[in-house]
Amino acid sequence: YRAGLERESHLPAVTKDGFFLNLMANIELVEEVVAVKDYGAIDIGLFRTEFLYLDLKRFPTEDELLCKYKELVELMSPQSVTIRTLDINGDKVNPYLSTVEEANPSLGLRAVRFCLENEDIFITQLKAILRAAAFGNIKLLIPMISCVEEIIQVKQVINKAILELDHEDKIFNKDIPLGIMIEVPSAVIMAEHLADHVDFFSIGTNDLIQYSMAIDRRNRRVAHLYQALNPAVLKMIKMTYDAAKKKGIDLVMCGEMAGDPINLPVLVGMGLSNFSMNPASIPAVKKLIRELDAQKAEKNVKEIMKFNTVQEISDFILKEYKDIL
Ligand code: PEP
Ligand code: MG
Repeated sequence: YRAGLERESHLPAVTKDGFFLNLMANIELVEEVVAVKDYGAIDIGLFRTEFLYLDLKRFPTEDELLCKYKELVELMSPQSVTIRTLDINGDKVNPYLSTVEEANPSLGLRAVRFCLENEDIFITQLKAILRAAAFGNIKLLIPMISCVEEIIQVKQVINKAILELDHEDKIFNKDIPLGIMIEVPSAVIMAEHLADHVDFFSIGTNDLIQYSMAIDRRNRRVAHLYQALNPAVLKMIKMTYDAAKKKGIDLVMCGEMAGDPINLPVLVGMGLSNFSMNPASIPAVKKLIRELDAQKAEKNVKEIMKFNTVQEISDFILKEYKDIL
């Protein structure tokens, strides 16, 4: 069955009624590019950059980072690679990086918060990304943005990185799309305002579910509340979609939610069309999409959004799509 799925994974991700979707891959290592192509993804929708930092047990230099990023974009060229800046602390804990113990690391100095506090480390990575952008198609993605001030500050740091590269006569490309992860509820609420500062949003449902349901994504004792189809989560996705649409910026979903076929009818029905996921999830998601009627999904979402419980929502989906799920 799996072999059949994989054979078909090179067909386009188009719904039965002709609505084209863009399926991209989440990766952590350059070596995964082979899998990306095998599974039929077009672009890299999320390159998590933590792993090089964790592997080395020290902060990599600008040239070390450049070397990896350049290799990746050249392998993928002309397709795009969305490089996300460092998202350490939180669940990706690193003993050599965190000298201070935090009672709640997920609520602590994580991701962009860490980068803004450690500007030299941030600038090193930004310079490597801007330099790699001279060799292929890069988009820059910032994780864990929780307020407008942060993105304004990030842009100031990007400008500093550009000035340094100019000074050093380095070859680079500063005309790359800038996006932010929407993974904190405050960012959903402020999405329209955040949209004024960026070119795209990427919804990170792994953290968005964690932070909106107030459950630790690694804690099994509360795993029953980790619900992608919770009405609160769906409302937040819809709010983000509406804000991106109103402001005319692109929207991607790159959390695990996009990789589970049961969630696709509601996401496609809402109007989302760019999904990035673990490469191995692509064949099954693509199969579902090719059997899905997008117009019917759109009608069904109107019903789904009226429900107040996750039980009613999943029952409705399982009943409506029993032939294709
Ligand atoms: C997410 O939070 O949904 C996400 C894609 O990022 P990560 O899993 O790396 O936190
Ligand atoms: Mg996240």
